[in-house]
Amino acid sequence: MKETKGCRLLLIPLPLQGHINPMLQLAQILYSNGFSITIIHTSFNSLNPSNYPHFNFCCIKDGLSESSASNLLNLVVELNIRCVKPFKECLGKLLCDVSEEPIACLISDAMCYFTQDVATSFKLPRLVLRTGGASSFVAFAAFPYLRENGYFPIQESKLEDGVKELPPLRVKDLPMINTKEPEKYYELICNFVNKTKASLGVIWNTFEDLESLPLSTLSQQFSIPMFPIGPFHKYFPTNNTSSSSSLIPQDQNCISWLNKHKPKSVVYVSFGSVASITEAEFLEIAWGLVNSNYPFLWVVRPGLIGGHEWLGPLPNGFMENLEGRGYIVKWAPQQEILAHQAVGLFWTHNGWNSTLESICEGVPMICMPCFTDQKVNARYVSHVWRIGLQLENGMERGKIERTIRKMMEDDIERE
Ligand code: UDP
Repeated sequence: MKETKGCRLLLIPLPLQGHINPMLQLAQILYSNGFSITIIHTSFNSLNPSNYPHFNFCCIKDGLSESSASNLLNLVVELNIRCVKPFKECLGKLLCDVSEEPIACLISDAMCYFTQDVATSFKLPRLVLRTGGASSFVAFAAFPYLRENGYFPIQESKLEDGVKELPPLRVKDLPMINTKEPEKYYELICNFVNKTKASLGVIWNTFEDLESLPLSTLSQQFSIPMFPIGPFHKYFPTNNTSSSSSLIPQDQNCISWLNKHKPKSVVYVSFGSVASITEAEFLEIAWGLVNSNYPFLWVVRPGLIGGHEWLGPLPNGFMENLEGRGYIVKWAPQQEILAHQAVGLFWTHNGWNSTLESICEGVPMICMPCFTDQKVNARYVSHVWRIGLQLENGMERGKIERTIRKMMEDDIERE
């Protein structure tokens, strides 16, 4: 039996790792403040209710397939179309259920913009959780302006130019993706921004001291309250709040490997749950890491390297020849790793969660953004907060080796 609490909150995450983690953390925060929690989740990347016995779960059948998931843009657009009907049915049932506590509101991931009209049709108040930073949201909210002022479509010859309305962003830092359907992406971003504006307020996994300027810009542009109550994972005493919401099991053995290393001596490398790299890039990274001579812990997620199951492209005996100086895992307990004293540098794709987790532990970053808000986050890390260096203009082992050495040696000098 679940303990009866005051009011019930309905939470719906976007079914991607970087969105599930903060939504489940928010659920945990709200639960510890006396609310009952019902998580509405899709059958795609379905959650495991047994990890959260104190929450209720409702699964909606989205009909999404693995093939829709191979393209991020399609996945999010499809999800926003296919979920309308099952979500309506689910809300209808939940709102009729008088055996549970009364429902106060819905908290929806901002990317699940379809929930706004459904919630309105039930007269259910809707708040939004934006799992990314406020700085990148300012750039998303500027899309119509950027189009009117000739920034879109992006022109190759202008990539290095500054966007004077959004300093310190350059055209190449705008939150774009590589797609053959730019109009579809533009529409998705406009929907996501407009349905956020239509909500009753935005909860942010960020904090005032970090993003005061973009937060105040957004407060002026949006006439709704902003709640920058992050970083969520720091509300809990445990080192790793994402383990129970992990879609892939986290390999804990790397912690014993880290325990054998000196403080700030290890380079941690991870590009998150969605980004992918080419075989050639993978090999440059591998050799750059080896040639830097620093120990490294590298997350190579199955699917990270286009066209390969896992470590296929590595030459035979590559890892063995390192005699323990390198450690590769499929998925790691990232928060625990970043908090570990042996880690001196994080080479990241700058997903917002990774960026925030690194900031919280004071770990400097090598930034290698792939798409969307990662590009804005990387620019802020390197040019506003000045806690990292961005690897730009292609990946080459010599450049990688020099960048790692510079970051690791600078860090030692700061000691
Ligand atoms: N993460 C993890 N293990 C890994 C890599 C990542 O637990 O090996 C977690 C990480 O701590 C973060 C999330 O997965 O909370 C990734 O989110 P982020 O926004 O950084 O990137 P995305 O995966 O959305 O691109």
